Amino acid sequence: MLTTLFDAHLDLAYNALGYDRDLTCPLSEIRLREAALYQTEEVDPSAPACQEHWGTPTVSLPAMRDANIRMCLVTLLARNSQAKIASHAPRRFDLDYAAPAITEAAAMGQLSYYKRLQIQGHIKLVCCRSELEAICSAPNGPIGCILSMEGCDPIVDPEDVQLWWQRGLRTACLAHYGQGRYAFGTGGNGPLTACGRQLLHQFQSRGLILDLVHTAEQAFFESLDLYDGPMYVSHANCRALVPSDRQLSDEQLQCIIHRDGVIGVVLDAWMLLPGYDRRSTPRHDVSLHHLADHIDHICQLSGNCCHVGIGSDLDGGFGVEQCPKEIESISDLQQLADILAQRGYVPNDINAIFHGNWLRFFREHLPT
Ligand SMILES: [Zn+2]
Repeated sequence: MLTTLFDAHLDLAYNALGYDRDLTCPLSEIRLREAALYQTEEVDPSAPACQEHWGTPTVSLPAMRDANIRMCLVTLLARNSQAKIASHAPRRFDLDYAAPAITEAAAMGQLSYYKRLQIQGHIKLVCCRSELEAICSAPNGPIGCILSMEGCDPIVDPEDVQLWWQRGLRTACLAHYGQGRYAFGTGGNGPLTACGRQLLHQFQSRGLILDLVHTAEQAFFESLDLYDGPMYVSHANCRALVPSDRQLSDEQLQCIIHRDGVIGVVLDAWMLLPGYDRRSTPRHDVSLHHLADHIDHICQLSGNCCHVGIGSDLDGGFGVEQCPKEIESISDLQQLADILAQRGYVPNDINAIFHGNWLRFFREHLPT
């Protein structure tokens, strides 16, 4: 029997718009189309950087149904690249935009994709608790999607939080990689910017939920002091097992647990296995057992199974090639249930990890 799954991080619209990927199709069709594109296009060394990240897809709406995903967090993902241009750092043509207004427009394009999927009956954007309950009580209905933002660069002005709330946004993290407009993200370290502090104030007064993923350590701890509202981490693993500033230290994990948050574990192979090298580590070396190790670590730190969930990030800049060996499709996540059971997790714990913890969190913190 399939366990109901709540996935706290999927870049659906980014993949649709960035890779021209029709997510309403079965994976087999998407793969055929993309394989054909590869065969007919000459490899161009000056091609946009996004091609590097174009792996074999594992996520489409039919595959999500096969995975028994009833709820997920879907992202808006677009970055303002002014700081990057200044530092001559690599720019992603599918992700980085020259001005906040263009970044906002890119995010609005992604939002319009979600709205169309909603009209077509594939998904339902969940903005409040009653909509969440409606999804939970209709197993054959659309997949419930809470709108999140990965990096707040599309928010042109902190005062626009109200506008984004009206557009359906319910949660966001402040930055992605490098210097964002509001905070340093992964790979940088520094405090919140002045705008970042104003933005957190707006989050707090509007009730927008804070995702502390990708937030550089100094800004992470500053946010804990400045923001009193609900917080969680959508997709990160444990630094104690795989060192990187992209992962959470035990101290950071304890802070999230202490604030009654949830941490979503992520499937990108380099975040699962220490020393993983994209070019040389055989895929066979990375397994869902490594994911279970990270789950275990969080459960040991919290002394229970109440603070960990899944934030798969599947197709978030990587494909099958960089997934644990069991994962050919997002539906293979179901195999994690058996692995946890073998380790002594009882059905109640497995349900909590697969969906119960995220449901509890969002039941408590979405508006009525
Ligand atoms: Zn991410």
